[in-house]
Amino acid sequence: MKQVTYEGLTFEPYILRDTIDARVKELGEEIVRDCAGKKPLFVCVLNGAFPFASDLFRACEGIDAEIAFIRLQSYEGTGSTGVVKEVLGLTADITGRTVIVVEDIVDTGNTIHRLVNDLKAKNPAEIKVATLLFKPDALVRPVKPDYVGFNIPTKFIIGFGLDLNGLARNLNDIYILKEN
Ligand code: IMP
Ligand code: MG
Repeated sequence: MKQVTYEGLTFEPYILRDTIDARVKELGEEIVRDCAGKKPLFVCVLNGAFPFASDLFRACEGIDAEIAFIRLQSYEGTGSTGVVKEVLGLTADITGRTVIVVEDIVDTGNTIHRLVNDLKAKNPAEIKVATLLFKPDALVRPVKPDYVGFNIPTKFIIGFGLDLNGLARNLNDIYILKEN
């Protein structure tokens, strides 16, 4: 498979679409088992999580579920700014509900930590975190995602929703930054 280039950086194929699809199906089965009778609210963290959330939500057709969207931003270029900005807030009432936060990737954990704390203040029954990708070695917050697609090393990746300054989200596979 071919390499791709964005902003002069070269990326090589890392996790292929078939592998993503198979793993998302497994996560869906797990969520369906865990959430039987609970009618969870999926909260998709825009922009990056939308392809994953779309697939994961439909992999959960065995239960009644709803979906809502929230927009956060912490990355500039290939590095975390450490500051999480809430750009578009959540309007749904989550009191007493099971909430499943859907993220593309947990890196430092700043984003998810901030979001989970904000959501806790709205009195949900429980909050679960589903992330397609997890960089455990990059964590600086006490965060433990409940559903993880793939654990990956602390490297910069793009594709399947993940971007470099807004581009590459439409790649079907996940690519990793090539080291020279
Ligand atoms: P955290 O707050 O450091 O955990 O970062 C979370 C957000 O940073 C994710 O939702 C992504 O939008 C972005 N991010 C983290 N790592 C990467 C990466 O390797 N590629 C693209 N975006 C990333
Ligand atoms: Mg994100």
